[in-house]
Amino acid sequence: MKTSALKGVHKKLLEIDLTHSKIRIKKLDKRLLQNYIGGRALATRLFFDAVDPGCDPLSPENIIVIAASPLIGTTAPTAARGHMVFKSPLTGLIGSSNCGGTWIRYLKSTGYDALLIKGRARKPVKIHINPESVTIQPAEKVWGLNVHQTTQTLQNEQSPKARVLCIGPAGENGVKFSSVMNDLNRAYGRGGPGAVFGSKNLKAILVEGNKKTEFNKKEIFQAGKDQAEYIMKAAPITKRLLKELGTSGLFKLINVMEMLPHHNFTDNVHAPEQIDQISGERIKKELLNRPGACFGCPIACQRHTSTNGKTGEGPEYETLVMLGPLCGIYHLESITKANYLCNELGLDTISMGGTIACAMEMSEKGILTKQETGGLALSFGRPEVLEQTVQQTASRQGIGKHLSEGSSRFAESFHHPAFSMSVKKMEIPAYDPRASFTQALGYMTSPTGACHLRGGYAVSLAFFGGTKEIPRFSLLQSPIAIRNMQNLGIIQDSLGICRFTGFAFSTEPWSRMLRGVTGYEYSSAEFEKMANRVAALERVFNLKAGVKHSDDALPPRFSSESITVQRQNTSLSFQSQIQLRENYYRARDWSVPEGIPSKKILESIECEEI
Ligand code: SF4
Repeated sequence: MKTSALKGVHKKLLEIDLTHSKIRIKKLDKRLLQNYIGGRALATRLFFDAVDPGCDPLSPENIIVIAASPLIGTTAPTAARGHMVFKSPLTGLIGSSNCGGTWIRYLKSTGYDALLIKGRARKPVKIHINPESVTIQPAEKVWGLNVHQTTQTLQNEQSPKARVLCIGPAGENGVKFSSVMNDLNRAYGRGGPGAVFGSKNLKAILVEGNKKTEFNKKEIFQAGKDQAEYIMKAAPITKRLLKELGTSGLFKLINVMEMLPHHNFTDNVHAPEQIDQISGERIKKELLNRPGACFGCPIACQRHTSTNGKTGEGPEYETLVMLGPLCGIYHLESITKANYLCNELGLDTISMGGTIACAMEMSEKGILTKQETGGLALSFGRPEVLEQTVQQTASRQGIGKHLSEGSSRFAESFHHPAFSMSVKKMEIPAYDPRASFTQALGYMTSPTGACHLRGGYAVSLAFFGGTKEIPRFSLLQSPIAIRNMQNLGIIQDSLGICRFTGFAFSTEPWSRMLRGVTGYEYSSAEFEKMANRVAALERVFNLKAGVKHSDDALPPRFSSESITVQRQNTSLSFQSQIQLRENYYRARDWSVPEGIPSKKILESIECEEI
């Protein structure tokens, strides 16, 4: 790594202790910033060094870290994403969530690269950050309001220019898959960060500032940016599909690939007319008001929509499937309204859909009685129950009290854990793992539980043309492929840029842009080293928090029940899962069968101390 003065960062961490109302500004070491760049990598390291892995996620001991990157504050395409790390109340393991919009850019413009929050306030509070001051203020007035009401009230009262990060009632009530929202509808969604905010009595963080991100050599940055934009304009997914249809444009394609789950992952069969009823094309025709974009994003995949007098954003692909076909529902208006409600109440739509589908199957099998569901007819194909179920979950009333724990604890509490389609207690997203062993292994080994983004977004690149071809059913190639995908994801999350740029290119243009901003040359080998560092930190944290190699596995349905893909019955036996898992550990230089990072790999990434 070539060295010069490090630009593009403020070298400052803002640390807030809510228990003692203490605010400290800490200098971030240059070497730390070089080795961990920003975003996910920086947040993971700061979190790892500050938290006890054995802590109760909803106790004052849990810590939240949010970090920006050197590219935030520049015009690098899609550089609008912040990263949040916390101990997840859903999984009991590391929580790691990424979000677009504009909030992280505003945080960086206050003069800080990262924010660390610990402790618990005695009463509801909000934090206001600008370059001149940081204040912790009472927030009783907005406690109980939904995300949209909170955002509007705080902007009206405090500053119309401020950007608001906040929780809704779901987070206040400790729902284990509640989200933290910014720009109204952008979510730090998975793993329950909303409940961690709620447990700290932290309702909102307002940011506004004017500090610029300095460049080392703007012309080098511009060359990388031009290169990135040129390729994005040529690649079919970034050029057309996401722009024209948003992520719901993937819906028909995933169905063609026979990966679209149905009825709590019992099969992948959908009638063509059902697919047409809720496709991306249908959303464009019937709901779309206008597309939108996170700051500086030329792709613009956001969908601003309205239905039956209500307006909001979405539904995006994952939401569409999880609240739709996974629950046997193909009614676009009901899915959209349930989606709006999840955003307003602050709920992760993936876990919400997975948990409802689990309850529907248990109800149909007679495990849940009508008395237990409070009279709610929870069975597949009933769009009329969606909104009420979402509402009850956020307020933890009726059956919602049990659903708010997530599908794993819910199914366990009724003595049928096998009906939860989750890994490490996190619900599996909208791609059937039997239809791609690479994606399956991504779910199995994701540090945060079944997440297609932290676990490796293998599916999309396999089918829609990414930087590398990804094998679909290879027990030998899948482990290396998913390790590489996960590492690319860590690099993207650490640069603060969007996963969807991976449809067009890998790391080369980012390396140039980063050099233009920071003055440091990051080779592919250095990016790779940083990704291996983060993967090791996340694994070691999880091992200390109690994870076992046997947790890196799919629910029994995926080995005992097959689906038809390419005219063949396919499932993933326990034996095959063990083979995949162990080959993955070998690819990472972790021990077999335990999955502990070896001394050799820790030395090579300069992390012996962890
Ligand atoms: S592609 Fe979509 S999610 Fe990604 S940065 Fe652009 S608008 Fe945001």
